[in-house]
This record gives sequence, C-alpha cells and structure tokens, in this order.
Amino acid sequence: MSPHAVQDSIETPPRAPSPIANFGTLAVHAGSPHDPTTGAVIESLSLSTTFAQNSVGKPVGAYEYVRSSNPNRDNFEEAIAALEHAKYALAFSSGSATTATILQSLAQGSHVVSVSDVYGGTHRYFTKVAAAHGVQVTFSPSIELDVADMIRPGETKLIWIESPSNPTLSLVDIRAVATVAHQHGIMVVVDNTFLSPYIQNPLDHGADIVVHSVTKYINGHSDVLMGCAAFNSPDLKDRLTFLQNAIGAVPSPFDCWLAHRGLKTLHLRAKEASRNALLVSNALASSAHTLLVNYPGLPTHKQYSIVQKQHRDGLGGGMLSFRIKGGPQAAERFCQQVNIFTLAESLGGVESLVEVPSSMTHAGIPKEQREAAGVWDDLVRMSCGVEDGEDLKKDVLQALEKAVIGPKVAGMLKEPQTNGHAR
Ligand SMILES: *Cc1c(COP(=O)(O)O)cnc(C)c1O
Repeated sequence: MSPHAVQDSIETPPRAPSPIANFGTLAVHAGSPHDPTTGAVIESLSLSTTFAQNSVGKPVGAYEYVRSSNPNRDNFEEAIAALEHAKYALAFSSGSATTATILQSLAQGSHVVSVSDVYGGTHRYFTKVAAAHGVQVTFSPSIELDVADMIRPGETKLIWIESPSNPTLSLVDIRAVATVAHQHGIMVVVDNTFLSPYIQNPLDHGADIVVHSVTKYINGHSDVLMGCAAFNSPDLKDRLTFLQNAIGAVPSPFDCWLAHRGLKTLHLRAKEASRNALLVSNALASSAHTLLVNYPGLPTHKQYSIVQKQHRDGLGGGMLSFRIKGGPQAAERFCQQVNIFTLAESLGGVESLVEVPSSMTHAGIPKEQREAAGVWDDLVRMSCGVEDGEDLKKDVLQALEKAVIGPKVAGMLKEPQTNGHAR
C-alpha cells in the first residue's frame, strides 16, 4: 500500500519526515505537512471561508470556498485515507451526516440490507428518513446467513454492517458478506466506529466503504462532533464529493484541526482502552455478581475466530457490556456507585463512561425487539478510557459489591428502589 496514494495527484507543500506504512507513523505524519513558509510542524488553522483568485475563475491556490474544500479538512481526510488503507476519504459534520449522505447517493427505488443491531441514529435514518426519498431498508439479525436470500436482484444496492454491534458486541464476518454482495454487484458499507482504524480496517476485508463517527475514537477527546467515510473507488469519490458539497453537511476547519490532533494518538489510546477493557471484562467475568459479559477481546466470545481474523492483534476495543444480577435496579445502582466511570451516553473518549442502554441509548427500541437482540434491562454498557487499568477494575468491583450485595445487607431490596440519586 502506498501511504500517500492520495497525495500523488495533488500539489503539496514540503512534507514532514517521510512516513512509512506502519500505523503510528502514519497517524502522526499523514496529512501533516510542515508550513512551507514558516516551517511550523503543526498545520495552521485556516478559518477563511473564501480564497482570492488571480483572475476570474483562477484561484491563487487549490481552494475557492470553504464548503467545497479547505486546507484543514483536506489534511484530515488525507490522514483518514492513510489509516483506513483507502485511496480517498471525506469528512462530514457528524457520523449521522455521513450515513445520510451515503444513503442520499442511492437512486429512488433502491433497497438496502442492514444488520438489525445498528447504531440507534442509523436505525432511525433507515426507518424514518430513507423512505422519504424512496429507499427501502430491511434488517437481518444474522446477516452472514440471510444476505443471499434478502438480496432483491436489481434493487439491492447496499449492505450495511456494524461490527462489533452496539451494545451487545456481536461481530460480522465482513469477508463472508462482501463475497456474496459482490457476486450481485452490491456495495458493502462497514460502520467501524466501535473499533477505530487502529483495530480494524474493513476495506482490507472486502468492504467498499468504511464509515466512522469521528466523534468517538478518532477524535477521542469528547469535544468534536464529526464523521468520515473512506473508500477506493474513483466513481464513489466523484459522487460523494459532489454530495458532500451539494448537501453541505461538512465539518468546520477548527473541528477538522482538533480531530486531526486527536487522531495522532489514536494508536496509543486504542491500545490502552483495549487493555483496560480486557482487564475490566476479566474482572466482570470472574465476579459472582454478573450473568454475562460481552467483550470481543475475551477468548470465550462466541465469535472469537472473527476477532482473530479481523482485529489487529486480537484486540477487543474499549467497549464492553454485561448483565448484572439484581435486574434493572442493580444496573442503575451500579451506574451510581462507580466513581471513575461517568454516567453518560457516547464512547471512545479518554474518559471512561457507563450507561444502561435499555433506558438511555436504546430506549427508543420497543422492549420485545430490544430483548430479542440481547439488550435486557439489566445490561450495562461501558466505554473504557485510558485511565489506569487497575483503578478502573477496582472501581467496577467496588460498585458491583454495592449494587448487588449492599441492598441485600441493608434490606433495601424489600423497598422498591427505583433510583439511586439520593445516595
Ligand atoms: C455515534 C455513532 C454514530 C453517529 O455519529 P454522530 O457523530 O453522533 O452523528 C454512528 N455509528 C455509531 C456506531 C456510533 O457510535
């Protein structure tokens, strides 16, 4: 793979030390030119919305108007392309805007097959928005088995995968699905948000487009809302670049600058978050207070063979979920009793977060449908950050004791305890 496949065709200023193909080097250097006039090693923030022209229709440089392209977005896109082993990448104002733009690229009457366990916002777009422009989406809980039957010849244009899924962390064999899809000329999209490009590169497993909510691991500091898509096809580049500009769901230069800064430490954060999540998962799995632990980094994960095939070094990522003993009340108490994990939605930041999907991120899904997908009321989802792993483990163990044993000792289970806010 040429780390600078994208650059070859573009006039670029002098580069930082020549990147080689390994991830950490690319993360730090791809799309990070030194400033050609000052030598600044960090790119300037280019806030200008418009760019001067020497004569009519002849801009001074590569830029005309900020929505179409700007230096900070170009640099960020170049870095993403390098990290996802793609020729091209495009940035959008959010992960959701990325999804919407890709769906908008489909002709009226198109059909999409999606895994059932998609991100809530993606499910909302697929079921409540796509139909308005004549695109129909059908869902499968076991896409590797169902995909051949679900394809409507001539109509199906896209297959949408999320691996691992949210919040049950089940996996999809991307290659298996892509093989069937490509026999029918259908494109495969993989939402790679949960793992980040450090742990999984879907294009290497046959996907045609990889998408991210940059808001999560890529930016990694919980202070930017952004999305991106990466791919190899020049036709897709033309179509999606056109829509990126025409729809205009683009990120600000400042957000591109921030996300690019975050991306430079992605490999360090992803490794540490994975290490911490494995430590916490092992502690949860050995605890008498849990019923089940979902974590792809555990060799007991039901699809561990896919982990070994698709994930770098068998890493499981920073996300895990588990069922606590004592029902939804215990789940809620657990979230109140942790001291380092913050009770909040989202994921992928340096700080650890915890939530109860059935009442928070997945509350919009009908109970029956939710439980069929394994999202029980006692399921707790955790995003492990990069704090000290032993501290996280201790925090989880003490919170389990208080959430499951504490109320029994205090006789509190006899009184309906619906929230722990008083404590
Ligand atoms: C957060 C998220 C999205 C949506 O991204 P936004 O940046 O919040 O719009 C899409 N997919 C997954 C898996 C996510 O976690």
